[in-house]
Amino acid sequence: MTNTDKKDLHVKNGDRVIIIAGKDKGKIGNSGLIKLEAPIDSSNVMIVCPACDKATRPSMKVIDGKKVRICKKCGEQLDA
Ligand SMILES: [Zn+2]
Repeated sequence: MTNTDKKDLHVKNGDRVIIIAGKDKGKIGNSGLIKLEAPIDSSNVMIVCPACDKATRPSMKVIDGKKVRICKKCGEQLDA
Protein backbone atom coordinates (compact mmCIF):
# COMPACT_ATOMS: atom_id res chain seq x y z
CA MET A 1 0.00 0.00 0.00
CA THR A 2 1.23 3.44 -0.82
CA ASN A 3 -0.10 6.88 -0.09
CA THR A 4 0.37 7.91 -3.68
CA ASP A 5 -2.74 6.07 -4.87
CA LYS A 6 -5.57 8.55 -4.72
CA LYS A 7 -9.06 7.33 -4.13
CA ASP A 8 -10.44 9.45 -6.93
CA LEU A 9 -9.81 7.51 -10.11
CA HIS A 10 -11.09 10.25 -12.36
CA VAL A 11 -13.55 7.91 -13.94
CA LYS A 12 -15.40 9.74 -16.64
CA ASN A 13 -18.73 9.12 -18.29
CA GLY A 14 -18.23 6.77 -21.19
CA ASP A 15 -15.23 4.98 -19.78
CA ARG A 16 -15.28 1.23 -19.90
CA VAL A 17 -14.99 0.11 -16.33
CA ILE A 18 -15.00 -3.14 -14.43
CA ILE A 19 -16.46 -3.43 -10.96
CA ILE A 20 -14.05 -5.04 -8.53
CA ALA A 21 -16.14 -5.17 -5.37
CA GLY A 22 -19.72 -5.59 -4.24
CA LYS A 23 -22.61 -7.53 -5.68
CA ASP A 24 -21.83 -6.49 -9.24
CA LYS A 25 -18.21 -7.60 -9.03
CA GLY A 26 -16.79 -8.57 -12.38
CA LYS A 27 -19.37 -6.63 -14.35
CA ILE A 28 -17.98 -4.60 -17.22
CA GLY A 29 -19.83 -1.61 -18.52
CA ASN A 30 -19.99 2.01 -19.41
CA SER A 31 -19.31 4.18 -16.38
CA GLY A 32 -22.32 6.39 -17.00
CA LEU A 33 -24.66 3.41 -17.17
CA ILE A 34 -23.20 1.82 -14.08
CA LYS A 35 -23.64 4.98 -12.08
CA LEU A 36 -27.25 5.18 -13.16
CA GLU A 37 -27.91 1.63 -12.05
CA ALA A 38 -26.30 2.06 -8.65
CA PRO A 39 -24.01 4.61 -7.12
CA ILE A 40 -20.65 2.93 -6.90
CA ASP A 41 -17.65 4.26 -5.08
CA SER A 42 -14.90 5.00 -7.57
CA SER A 43 -12.54 2.88 -5.48
CA ASN A 44 -14.64 -0.14 -6.41
CA VAL A 45 -14.15 0.21 -10.13
CA MET A 46 -11.17 -0.03 -12.41
CA ILE A 47 -10.94 1.40 -15.88
CA VAL A 48 -10.60 -1.07 -18.73
CA CYS A 49 -7.76 0.20 -20.90
CA PRO A 50 -8.79 0.52 -24.54
CA ALA A 51 -5.23 -0.18 -25.67
CA CYS A 52 -4.38 -3.38 -23.78
CA ASP A 53 -7.91 -4.38 -22.70
CA LYS A 54 -6.82 -4.88 -19.11
CA ALA A 55 -8.31 -3.42 -15.96
CA THR A 56 -6.08 -0.71 -14.61
CA ARG A 57 -5.97 2.00 -12.02
CA PRO A 58 -4.74 4.92 -14.07
CA SER A 59 -1.96 7.17 -12.96
CA MET A 60 -2.11 10.86 -13.66
CA LYS A 61 0.48 12.67 -15.69
CA VAL A 62 0.71 16.23 -16.87
CA ILE A 63 1.57 16.42 -20.55
CA ASP A 64 1.68 19.80 -22.28
CA GLY A 65 -0.11 21.34 -19.31
CA LYS A 66 -3.00 18.90 -19.46
CA LYS A 67 -3.74 16.18 -16.97
CA VAL A 68 -4.00 12.84 -18.69
CA ARG A 69 -4.62 9.38 -17.37
CA ILE A 70 -2.04 6.76 -18.09
CA CYS A 71 -2.59 2.99 -18.11
CA LYS A 72 -0.23 1.45 -15.58
CA LYS A 73 -0.16 -1.80 -17.52
CA CYS A 74 0.88 -0.62 -20.98
CA GLY A 75 1.65 3.09 -20.51
CA GLU A 76 -0.86 4.28 -23.09
CA GLN A 77 -2.87 7.42 -22.50
CA LEU A 78 -6.48 6.70 -21.60
CA ASP A 79 -7.62 10.10 -22.82
CA ALA A 80 -7.27 10.22 -26.57
ZN1 LIG B 1 -3.21 -0.43 -21.18
